[in-house]
Formats: sequence, C-alpha cells, structure tokens
Amino acid sequence: MSLAIRPLPAFTDNYIWTLSLPGRNAACVVDPGDARPVLDYLAKHELTLSHIFITHHHPDHTGGLAELIKRFEPVVYGPDNPGIKGINQPLAEGDELDLWGYRFQILEVPGHTLDHIAFYCDQGPAPILFCGDTLFAAGCGRLFEGTPEQMQQSLGKFTALPPETLVYCTHEYTLANLKFAIAAEPDNSDLQARIDRESEKRRNQEVTLPSTMALELATNPFLRCQSKGIKQTLQGRQLNTDSDLEVFTALRQWKDNF
Ligand code: ZN
Ligand code: FE
Repeated sequence: MSLAIRPLPAFTDNYIWTLSLPGRNAACVVDPGDARPVLDYLAKHELTLSHIFITHHHPDHTGGLAELIKRFEPVVYGPDNPGIKGINQPLAEGDELDLWGYRFQILEVPGHTLDHIAFYCDQGPAPILFCGDTLFAAGCGRLFEGTPEQMQQSLGKFTALPPETLVYCTHEYTLANLKFAIAAEPDNSDLQARIDRESEKRRNQEVTLPSTMALELATNPFLRCQSKGIKQTLQGRQLNTDSDLEVFTALRQWKDNF
C-alpha cells in the first residue's frame, strides 16, 4: 500500500498537496493556504484530516490553518516559528516524524524565508520531497529573507538526494521558469525538450508536478551554476561568474527582474 498524493489547486497558482493511504479514512495536507479546497476534498472523499505539514510562514501556505484546526484538531508539523499559529509539533533539521508508518526527515532550507523547512521520505516506491517555495520546477524561490549563500546551501541539500526523488513544489510556475531558464542557457537541449513537454501539459490543463531531482539537475539554472552556457550568458551581461555563488546570485537577481 503506498501513499496517494494529489494536488488541490488554490488561489491562482498554488497547489495544496494531499496525502492519503488507500483503506484509511484520514488525510494529510501540505501548506493549506486556503481551507475551502481542503474541506471540499475531505467531504467529497469522506476523509478526516489527521495531519498538516507546513513548510514556511507565508499566508498562501498557512492561511487555512485556523479553520482546519478548529474543525479537525490535526497534528500540525511545521517550522519552530512562534509566528505561525497552530503548529503543535515544531521541527528542526534532522528531526523525523511518522505518518502512517512512513518516516519523513526534516531539512532546514532557509533562503526564501528563514524558517523554511522541507519534508523528505524515502520509504515509498520512489523518494518524495515537499519543498514548499524553496525549489520550483526549473526555478527556485525568491530571497525574501535569506541570502543567496543560504539558498544555495539549502538547494545543495536537495541535490544530494537520489535523482529519482519526486519533487512536490507548491506553485505552478513551471512555464514562466522555463522561459527564464532557456534565456540563461539557450543551448541546453534537455531544456528545450522539457519546454515542449511541459507546454503540452499546460495546454491540456495538466499539473506539471511532481518533477524529479534528475530533471531539475538537467534543466534548472539555479542548480546548474557550473554550466558553461550559463556562465557565457551571464558574462555577456557583464556579470561576475568566478564562483558558483556569484553565478547563483547573478541568476537570482536577473530572474527577479525578468
Ligand atoms: Zn512563500
Ligand atoms: Fe508561496
């Protein structure tokens, strides 16, 4: 029996990921920014809500907490940030938690926010990662609170995971990210092939997630700071590319204004 993982669209481009096990009438949701789609989903499938995972404090990831807690009193795992009301199981780097016999490991991944954590489980058919707004398909989160160095270190924790890891991001930003990625690395043929595939999915109103670490390593510019093509593009824009950190910093700043 393995975990079923499904996205609930929320707001304009968020996904609230739901986890459930066949034969069990409970669900876990990740980053419920809005209670409504979660309540509708639970009612439709006659499920109760036993667990919530929170990756960071932003309202589009936490806005549904109060109402869901009032209705279901779930176990709420999340960052050790008293600013997030409702977390009853605060987590830190290296902590482990159990969800219906599946062990999740906690990675602290500051950068997008300072309290950001990720949830990783390697016990299913493929390893799974809930990375919030740290890693996106072909992109990464904006640096609202952390430094480029912190973000690069955080992303390094993800690239160390097995390449077959399924990456569950919280936003449908894939096509916009790919537009930037191809501007940064025009000669990457994996990237061009991915643009074709993901564009087709969006034309059919399909979700482009989960991604895999292998695909991100091949096509995500923020994980490819050693790529000659990316360095050439940045040098053409008179940007420093002496270190991986300079490449990352230049990419992130460029993307912010892209
Ligand atoms: Zn966020
Ligand atoms: Fe977000």
